[in-house]
Amino acid sequence: MTKEQAGKTKALPIKELEQLYKQDGNLKYSETKKHQLETSERRYRRLFEAAQDGILILDAETAEVTDVNPFLIDMLGYSKEEFVGKKLWDIGAFKNIKVAKSAFAKLQSEHYIRYDDMPLETKNGRLISVEFVSNVYDVDHTSVIQCNIRDITERKIAEQARQMIEDKLRTVIEISELHYRRLFETTQDGRLVLDAETAEVTDVNPFLTDMLGYSKKEFIGKKLWELGFFKNAALAKAAFKELQEKKFIRYEDLPLETSDGRQILVEFISNVYDVDKETVIQCNIRDIAVRKHAAEALSQNQQQQIQIRDQFLSRMSHELRSPLTPIHQFVTILLDGLAGNITSEQREYLTIILNNVNLLRNMVRDLLEVTRAVAGKLEVDLRCVYLTELMPQVIKSYQLVNAKGLIISADIPENLPPVYADYNRICQIIDNLMENAIKFTPEKGTINIKAEVSDDSPEFVRIMATDSGCGISPEEHGKIFNYLYQVENSNEQNHRGLGIGLYICGELVTSHGGKIWVESQLGKGSTFFFTVPIFSIEGQMASILNTTHLVTDFLAIFTVELSHIDKHLLKSKNAQTALWEAWDTLQSTTLSGVAALMPRVLPGRLKEIFFLVACTDQNNAQFLLAQIRTRLGSCVGLQDAGISMIISFTPLNIPLMNQKLSNKILSNITRDVENFMKTTSNNGGC
Ligand code: ADP
Repeated sequence: MTKEQAGKTKALPIKELEQLYKQDGNLKYSETKKHQLETSERRYRRLFEAAQDGILILDAETAEVTDVNPFLIDMLGYSKEEFVGKKLWDIGAFKNIKVAKSAFAKLQSEHYIRYDDMPLETKNGRLISVEFVSNVYDVDHTSVIQCNIRDITERKIAEQARQMIEDKLRTVIEISELHYRRLFETTQDGRLVLDAETAEVTDVNPFLTDMLGYSKKEFIGKKLWELGFFKNAALAKAAFKELQEKKFIRYEDLPLETSDGRQILVEFISNVYDVDKETVIQCNIRDIAVRKHAAEALSQNQQQQIQIRDQFLSRMSHELRSPLTPIHQFVTILLDGLAGNITSEQREYLTIILNNVNLLRNMVRDLLEVTRAVAGKLEVDLRCVYLTELMPQVIKSYQLVNAKGLIISADIPENLPPVYADYNRICQIIDNLMENAIKFTPEKGTINIKAEVSDDSPEFVRIMATDSGCGISPEEHGKIFNYLYQVENSNEQNHRGLGIGLYICGELVTSHGGKIWVESQLGKGSTFFFTVPIFSIEGQMASILNTTHLVTDFLAIFTVELSHIDKHLLKSKNAQTALWEAWDTLQSTTLSGVAALMPRVLPGRLKEIFFLVACTDQNNAQFLLAQIRTRLGSCVGLQDAGISMIISFTPLNIPLMNQKLSNKILSNITRDVENFMKTTSNNGGC
């Protein structure tokens, strides 16, 4: 109730009204009114008794308590008798008599008082806080005072607790603000704070002002793109827009200009965040010149270290190889009985020595290879290679020396097309896969090596080495081709290696234009795959026509026809070996990049014809012909097998090669060469 309301309130003058009604003679009407008044009185009483606030009624003249409600009795612990008839300041709860008296005086004059937080003491000595609202009103011409007393102790405790938390929080925030400030001021990176709406600088730290040579004044209040060091205002605007959208931007090396015109590169990281419902942008700016120099110095240092390591590795491998060669030779001499008979025990020991020498030789070979691979000097000499000839030879050596009793098999279809590869390198890759397969497969296990035209890329042959060994978990599949990588926890025995074999294989396969990978599961064996491109006549023609520096309109096709008086004898083992010898001789005669030996035609039939296509002029062709004659003439195998040969060359006119080779010209030339080879073969040679 407000002060004004309280002033105007008049209590119901029941007796007076009763009198008036009686005088008026309107008894029935007055009875009804009386009834209404009594009802109202009862309602007031019920409210008074049941109120959940303390209520005290005082005589406005004497300050004596005339009534008190049960709630106040409970609240203060005094009985009704201890209230009624007592003056306000005589009640124990109102301890401070002086204050109670002056409050009463104020109430009498102003008809209203209010204390938001007044201390009272309960009968058992507990201090409580109350809200005390009191006003004066008239009842039957008598002024009474009603005091409404509400216990606010709990509310106060809650408020105090809230206040305490707020104070603590404020302190924490103040400390954190202080920390932030100190950090901001002392950090060794530049810091810029912007208003996220306007892009205006609101703060800058000393490090940035020093770094750029501008005063704090020259920053504050300026928009990002108005700052002198951002030479490119358009870029700064675009960056700010991006920042607003993405809430984060980062530039690895942003060029800035200092006040004295120096260009510096900085790392610029900026993000948007909220502070007290305000959105701000903080930019962290780091001069990366020092870091760049440090990184460059580090990388130079690392490069040098690597170079020293590689040089050392290379020298060491060469030095290790030299004594190994005579050891190997003399052990072989002993084993072959060339230095006299040996006992079976001596043979056994010598075999152990030989095996270990071979192991060492392989390691030294790998070390040499890896230094070449790292230096990018792993060379491959690509030619026409028959895997049908190469693979059985390699595998046979493993079948012969098979200490673990493994079942080693091979599936190489006879009609497998020749590949364009380096013979020795392919042997090296297969050797490596075979050695690993043997190493990681337990006794009596199986190893199979297979070659076929790849299903998914028909221009490649795919070679697969499958073993029934320990297998490799999928997460290791990619890693085992890395330099010096060995799978951890694999059997100690198997750790005899350097972890570079597969790395070298990977490098070699890549040099051939192929791929290498593994499919395997732990405990379920492994299959290593690699691909090599199939020899393509068109590819060869492209390579010799593109790389030649001669301006020519002429191709020379050399035909080497090899035959035997007894045509059946051409199929004999000796003759076949001699033919491969001739083939190899021709391969080495091939001037790389100028001439290409074509795949063998009619292998194993009555005649064998080799074709060598060279992109050369007439004079050189004559020279090459003489060279082929001399080389093949000195092939002892051919003579021993009684194989005779006719060598000739046929010129093939082609469009003048002084322009870029088009696909059409290339396929026409290829077709002509193929037709020539086909016709010559069908006619049985020259
Ligand atoms: P290492 O000289 O150690 O054999 P490699 O590079 O040849 O080096 O092989 C790397 C690792 O790959 C080996 O240490 C081995 O953990 C795993 N590995 C290679 N081949 C096989 C295989 N056939 N079966 C199981 N694990 C193999």
